[in-house]
Amino acid sequence: MTDEPLFPTIDILKSRGQAQLALHERAAHASSEKFGRGVFLRGVVEVSNFCRENCAYCGMRRDNRGLARHRARLDQLAELLVHHRPASITDLNIQSGEDPVVVREVVLPLIKILRRETSLGVSVCLGTLNRALYDDLKMAGASMYILKFEIADPDFYAEMTAPGNLVERLQHIRELAATGWNVSSGFIAGLPGQTDAGLLANFSRARELPLAGCSVSPFIPGEETPLANAPTADIELTLNCMAALRLMRTHWIIPAVSALNLAEPVTGYRRGLRTGANLVTINLTPPDLREDYVLYKRDRFIMTEERILSAIEAEGLKPSKQCLADYCRHKKATPTHAWRPATHAAAALNR
Ligand code: SAM
Repeated sequence: MTDEPLFPTIDILKSRGQAQLALHERAAHASSEKFGRGVFLRGVVEVSNFCRENCAYCGMRRDNRGLARHRARLDQLAELLVHHRPASITDLNIQSGEDPVVVREVVLPLIKILRRETSLGVSVCLGTLNRALYDDLKMAGASMYILKFEIADPDFYAEMTAPGNLVERLQHIRELAATGWNVSSGFIAGLPGQTDAGLLANFSRARELPLAGCSVSPFIPGEETPLANAPTADIELTLNCMAALRLMRTHWIIPAVSALNLAEPVTGYRRGLRTGANLVTINLTPPDLREDYVLYKRDRFIMTEERILSAIEAEGLKPSKQCLADYCRHKKATPTHAWRPATHAAAALNR
């Protein structure tokens, strides 16, 4: 197995049968060469479904007037995470609609409590904020920022009314990385209207950004969105994109997202682990908040600790003892060619 990065073609992304199997096996092998059998285990709490953005694909869009909006209570989350979290998680991701109020009132004090009372690494996924808030979050003790570029094609980004605008979203990704954050990004596969060129553009974009990780989410039609009647993304395309990402950047953190199980009930998630994903997320959002945290449908498939651990075991993998935040810190201290912002690496990548 060489470490030569792959840049996918549309034929690779649409492969089926033996070619697809070989792609997935190669990706899983690349992952095990870098990470062994270990899979990072992170908890997620969803802290607010208020959102000032209006993404056509997302159920939390501000125009969705049918959604009851809530913010989590700090004391409830702190009690849960300090005293009752699953023993298997090493990290926590705090996720939210784009809601600066919850950042100030809940997220910042929660991070401080977690850093004081636990050894959890802290990731945040809070949308595009401002420099002062990013700095406050880092000072409080978060080290990974998840900011998906969502859609690399600028016209399609605008058409989908994705957050702000693409130029700004990319600027924030770069600035976060330049100011010491480990940044994980991501895109959506199978959006209605996504062209082959648009799909491939996601790989070009991901490759040139200074990322520690990247995700692929299958498009799931959100119930109360303008795309409610569009078809769900093809799971095969989504898995092929995940495998291609792994082969493009073997050292990246690539999550198996819970929406895989909506794109293909029962087996989708496990198949994600078979394409080189190395991060799984246990949903710890208190049930009363979870009900209205609607990205897709109210009937969500919740990844509990039990489901996650059994999927990992069934795939011959094991929960990593290493904290994701520590892995990233260590990785930064010993950079490889591909960890650097992509200007040098780019020329070498697509030979
Ligand atoms: N508001 C923050 C932001 O903009 O980064 C946090 C993440 S946002 C709540 C949820 C994420 O779910 C989005 O980044 C998007 O990629 C994904 N998402 C939302 N609706 C989706 C859908 N219908 N299908 C697939 N992914 C979707």
